[in-house]
Amino acid sequence: MAVPSEKAPLFTPATLRQIAEQFGTPVYVYDADTLRAQLEKLKRFDHVRFAQKACSNVHVLRVLREAGALVDCVSLGELERAVRAGFEPGQDPAQIVYTADVLTKDALDRLVETKVPMNAGSIDMLAQLGTRSPGHAVWLRMNPGFGSGHSKKTNTGGESSKHGIWHEQLPDALRVVDHFGLDLVGFHMHIGSGADMTHLERVCDAMVNMVVDSGRDVRAISGGGGLSIPYRSHESNIDPQAYFERWHAARQRLEVYLEHPVSLELEPGRYLAGPAGVLVTEVRATKSMGGNHFTLVDAGFNDLMRASMYGAYHEITLLPQDGAPRATRPTVVAGPLCESGDVFTQTSSSELDPRPLPEAEVGDLLVFHDAGAYGASMSSNYNSRPLVPEVLIDGGKVQLIRRRQTIADLLQLELDIDQRG
Ligand SMILES: *Cc1c(COP(=O)(O)O)cnc(C)c1O
Repeated sequence: MAVPSEKAPLFTPATLRQIAEQFGTPVYVYDADTLRAQLEKLKRFDHVRFAQKACSNVHVLRVLREAGALVDCVSLGELERAVRAGFEPGQDPAQIVYTADVLTKDALDRLVETKVPMNAGSIDMLAQLGTRSPGHAVWLRMNPGFGSGHSKKTNTGGESSKHGIWHEQLPDALRVVDHFGLDLVGFHMHIGSGADMTHLERVCDAMVNMVVDSGRDVRAISGGGGLSIPYRSHESNIDPQAYFERWHAARQRLEVYLEHPVSLELEPGRYLAGPAGVLVTEVRATKSMGGNHFTLVDAGFNDLMRASMYGAYHEITLLPQDGAPRATRPTVVAGPLCESGDVFTQTSSSELDPRPLPEAEVGDLLVFHDAGAYGASMSSNYNSRPLVPEVLIDGGKVQLIRRRQTIADLLQLELDIDQRG
C-alpha cells in the first residue's frame, strides 16, 4: 500500500528506492520534463525569467535555458551560476538580470564589468551603479503600496515589506536615473497574487498607472513571480491562461499609451521548480511521547526549511521497505536536529500538526513532495550537517548534479587557516 495523495507521483517508488540506494539519503531528486512542462505553460509571455533562488543548481538552470527561459539573479553567486549555466551577458533581451534591494560591493564590480542590467529595489542602488557605470540598463522594482503573500515573511509589497521602491518615491528614483543617464528598460512589480485574479488585476492596474505617472517611455514590464502551486492535493492550480490574459491586457493598454510594442516578462521561481522535485529521506527512529507519535527521518530543517520557517505544508509519502500495507495513524514527522522546531508537520504558528500517515518502520523511505523550490537552495550546514546530493532525471537518464558535501569539505574552510599559519 502506498500513500494517501491524490496527486500523480513524479517518480515511481522503484526509481526512488534505486536512487536512495545509489546516492544515499537524504537526496533531492528533480524531473527535467516537469521543469519543461511548467515553463511551457507560461509560453505566451514574451519572456519567462526563472527566479533561480528557488532552485539554483547549475544543471537545473541549463535545462531551463535550453527550454527557452531567461534567468534572474539576486547575488553575485547567482550571477556566476547563471554564467556557468550558459546564460550570456550582453544579449538583447538580457539573458541575466540582477534584482535586489541592496547592491553588494562584489556584485557591483561584476555588474560594471558584465553590463548585466540591474533591477533596483532601492534608490541607493541606482546611485551606486550610476556613479560607476553611467548609462547602465536598469529596471525599477516598485512597491505599489499594497502586498500579498502567504505569511508575513513572504509578503513582497506594502509598507511593512522591505522590497522595492516606495511608489511615492518614484520621482526621486527617476531623478537619479536621469542624473546618471541610466537606461530605463522598464518597471517591475513582484507582488505575488497566487490564484487570486482580483488581486492580480489590482497589481496590473497599479503597473499601468505607475508607467503613466512616471511620464517615461519604457520598453518592458515585468510581473515578477509569486505564482502559486498546489501543495495539498485539494488545492487548485493557477490558470496560466487567465494569469497571462490579465498581464497582456495591461501591456496592451501601455502599448496604446506609448504607441509602440511593450515586452511582457514574468519571473516565476516556485511555479517552475516546486512541482519538479522531491526530497527522499530514510526513517531512522519512531517513538511515542504521550499522545503524540513521532516518525524521525534523516533530513532536518537544514535540508528543507519551509515547514520550520513558514509552517509550509509538503505532501508526505511513505515507501515501506517491504512494500506491505501499513495501518494509518496520526504522525508527527521530525528530523535529527538538536532544535525542537525541527518538525515537518507543523502549523504556521508552530503548533504540532500530526498527519494521518501509514505507520513507519526504521529503514522505510519517506518522501517530501513539491520540494523542488526553496528546498536545496535554502539548505544550510546547521548542526555541521553536509549539504545533500541533488539528482536530475531526464528521460530515462539519472544524473548526479551535485555530490554530497563531505565533512572534510566543511572543515576545510576552518583548517585552511591553520595551514596558512
Ligand atoms: C523570489 C522572487 C521571485 C520568485 O518568487 P516565486 O514566488 O518563487 O515565484 C521573483 N522575483 C523576485 C524579485 C523575487 O525576489
